[in-house]
Amino acid sequence: MKETVYHLKKIFSFGKQYKWFFLLELLLSCIQISIGVLLPLFAAKQIVLVTNNEYHQLLLISVAICGIEIFNSLNNACIGKVCNVFRRGTMKNIQIELGIEILKIKQEDIEKYGTGTFIERLNHDTERITELFTKGIGYLARVFTYLGVFISVFVINRVVFLYYLIVALLLTFLYLIKTKKIGIQDVKYKKQKDRVSGFIGELVRGEKDIKILSAKKSFMNRLSTEITKQNDLQHVKRNLEVLYDIGIHFLTSILTLGLVILLIFLIQNEQLSVSLAVALFTYKTNIMTNFMENVSLLLNEVKDFNISSGRALSILENKAFHKEIFGTRHLEHLEGNFSFKNVSFSYKNYPVLNGMTFDIKAGQTVAFVGKSGAGKTTVFNLLGKLYDIENGEIWIDDINIKTLDEASIRDNITIISQNPYIFNMSIRDNFKLVKEDVKEEEIVEALKKSCLYSFVSTLPNGIDTVIGEGGTNLSGGQRQRLAIARAFVQKTKIILFDEATSALDNETQRDIQKAIDNLKGEYTIMIIAHRLSTIIHADRIMLVEDGKITAEGTHQELLSNNVVYQKLYENEITK
Ligand code: ADP
Repeated sequence: MKETVYHLKKIFSFGKQYKWFFLLELLLSCIQISIGVLLPLFAAKQIVLVTNNEYHQLLLISVAICGIEIFNSLNNACIGKVCNVFRRGTMKNIQIELGIEILKIKQEDIEKYGTGTFIERLNHDTERITELFTKGIGYLARVFTYLGVFISVFVINRVVFLYYLIVALLLTFLYLIKTKKIGIQDVKYKKQKDRVSGFIGELVRGEKDIKILSAKKSFMNRLSTEITKQNDLQHVKRNLEVLYDIGIHFLTSILTLGLVILLIFLIQNEQLSVSLAVALFTYKTNIMTNFMENVSLLLNEVKDFNISSGRALSILENKAFHKEIFGTRHLEHLEGNFSFKNVSFSYKNYPVLNGMTFDIKAGQTVAFVGKSGAGKTTVFNLLGKLYDIENGEIWIDDINIKTLDEASIRDNITIISQNPYIFNMSIRDNFKLVKEDVKEEEIVEALKKSCLYSFVSTLPNGIDTVIGEGGTNLSGGQRQRLAIARAFVQKTKIILFDEATSALDNETQRDIQKAIDNLKGEYTIMIIAHRLSTIIHADRIMLVEDGKITAEGTHQELLSNNVVYQKLYENEITK
């Protein structure tokens, strides 16, 4: 109960702007409930009138019932409309807030819990939360409505009323146990559902690689195992439900027999007429079945509301996931100098950087070379503050990165990965994501500088061409050049470029080289080079081995005094 009140308070805070719709929904529901209470009373009156042969009054009451029922159906339609406005609006606000908070979660927690966890909470849980205000209120209204039946029974006969009351309390107790037990099972089921959602997300996002790797069968086997686990958990939940339902039905049958015996006893003792006994017996369905069914559905709805609210609030209230932490210092203008001082870093206890130290001056172009797995990309991730370092310091323009706010870091650093993510929207909109008021001339200039304009101008709609899901109709080289163009528009001072490992054709490679050359001087550029030929003219080249810089200098200097670099170069030219 305490939990439900807490969740309700929190969830209502997202629907504040729609509170009038909610209040109107409550008001209309109260009218619906009052009608529901009145109708059985009228029906009881009808029975009394029939037994007393008062047909004139009976006709009047019947016309009144007809009018009330018509009004009630109109009222129900209004409730549906009003509650939908409240529900949709609140759901949108929760989803937006969840989206914002998910984007604040630390990279390592996203990797740890998997994307499915967040997709389910954003999609399914928000839907379930707001259902309390549609279905839930409907069930509540019906529960109250059936209370009208209780009142009618009370008016007709107190002994039968007492019997019905005991029955209702007994069945409510059973339904409460059922809801509690199923709730425990439901939490397990929902966790597994998160995993399945994650797998399905990977199936869609990684479909290309699944095909190329010829991994369809093994991937589907994994997915099938996860779905089977999900089904098994659902099965256990269903079995529990069925078991409790059988028990409840069994008990209801016995209680019905008890009711019949009680009614016969009352008739024999002349405490009840046969016609009223028949009327009281017909209320059985409303009290033992409809009333209890709605109590059960309502409890179920509250249970689902609590589970889903808990899952959503765990993101919104920083309960289960760690959020990124930034400093408060804001830098309006950045020179573009940066340095690592004795930095150490591990991914989940797997050490990668081990006392990394280097210093880069604004406007320089510096290249990182070294074996795969040496820790080069990790340096980029740490500069973008996607992870936090364990020891040492990272400085940007002589300010410790820990003290800087998010905008000072992310507005000034662009990371161009080997396969940059291009959003499924037009080329223009991809630019608008990094600069909302970008002008067409700026886009064209950026595309020209990144050697992509001649390609874009051949597209049917030019810069308004929608590039497919994840930009799939662009080649790897084109994606990288588009990402470079985005950096031109964003004008970030520091550009970190991870050269594609896959072999690019000579022309594409030349274009990328030209695009990077166009960046030189104005920006501080760091390149992870997989082909030494592309960085011969870099101001400085640093050799990375086992998470440390082991040598640095120009291409000529390293070639003449570093054996490892010489070997790397020889390997490349003899390929
Ligand atoms: P490089 O760019 O030099 O090839 P990386 O910096 O990408 O090397 O990776 C360094 C090491 O860290 C590798 O052994 C890699 O497997 C590991 N690693 C990289 N990213 C992660 C991650 N997100 N979680 C765990 N280990 C990682």
